Amino acid sequence: MSGANQTPNPLCGRLAPSPTGALHLGNARTFLITWLSIRSRNGKLIYRLEDLDHPKVKAGAAEEAMQDLKWLGLDWDEGPDIGGPLKPYVQSARIPAYRAALDRLIASGQVYACICSRRDVETAQSAPQDGEDGLYYPGTCRDRFKDYQQAQAALSPDRLPAWRFAAGSESTSFADGFHGAQTSVAKEDVGDFAIARHPDGAGYMLGVVVDDAAMGVTEILRGDDLLATTHRQILLQSALGLPTPEYIHVPLVVGPDGRRLAKRHGDTRIAEFRDQGISPSRIVGLLASWCGWASPGEELMPSDLIQRFSLDAIPHHPIVLPEDLHLVS
Ligand code: GLU
Repeated sequence: MSGANQTPNPLCGRLAPSPTGALHLGNARTFLITWLSIRSRNGKLIYRLEDLDHPKVKAGAAEEAMQDLKWLGLDWDEGPDIGGPLKPYVQSARIPAYRAALDRLIASGQVYACICSRRDVETAQSAPQDGEDGLYYPGTCRDRFKDYQQAQAALSPDRLPAWRFAAGSESTSFADGFHGAQTSVAKEDVGDFAIARHPDGAGYMLGVVVDDAAMGVTEILRGDDLLATTHRQILLQSALGLPTPEYIHVPLVVGPDGRRLAKRHGDTRIAEFRDQGISPSRIVGLLASWCGWASPGEELMPSDLIQRFSLDAIPHHPIVLPEDLHLVS
């Protein structure tokens, strides 16, 4: 929220991988775009490990993602491996910050504990995937429990209540840097949404909002599967008195069946290409060609693309993984 006589915060972006699986061509392309958007304007990049997604976190995936991104030629100014003034850069080490934010939301009566089950576990604990935005929660547990402990007592000990944000009737709007003007009324679109499923508020939705503000992030560039989620993050920012960064959501890479890239579409893991002896410049060249910045077959490193970077060149439709992708010569 920059006023006329405030100095704008310096440009700062973040690479925020969740260690839930291997880095593949799809998420590598998004990270490349994120990196270029910041580096082409001499901004700062933070690497933040989003490891709160406990059931889906895979052992070793955090280290591998970092190794893969470095191999592709991406770098950052602060992160778990190099430290920095805003450490820790690993979400599981930042739980006191989520607890403090949660306490403020509890004090202002904007959150409540909910014992309803179903897929809201995933909505609360991880970045929403395809289709989850179709969930609507009508507020069944609003005013039902005195506190989280009472809600917990109503569940078997192996289940945790969710924290839900009591959505008001206000609308949220933002100008997405790729998709343009967006408006939503959370109460109508998703209802009271989950912000975490953890006693201390450690979950995707609250974590990302708290950390982006604490780390001075001014630009969030990510996949457009998170476009609708942004409205919920803006509501949380406003409830916590935090600034709203600029948002840019870019289309994903999908399989020939139109679904987000996954194992069933073949092995597109960056580590696999590296093991096969393919050079990073071939991979980056391919990713760049999918962004309209390079011709098919060009070999480039991220730094070669700084002059070519343009959001306008990126196609507005999802990139469909070619069925005949042959990178091994
Ligand atoms: N860590 C999240 C993911 O990998 C992205 C977080 C975000 O950009 O808000 O899906």
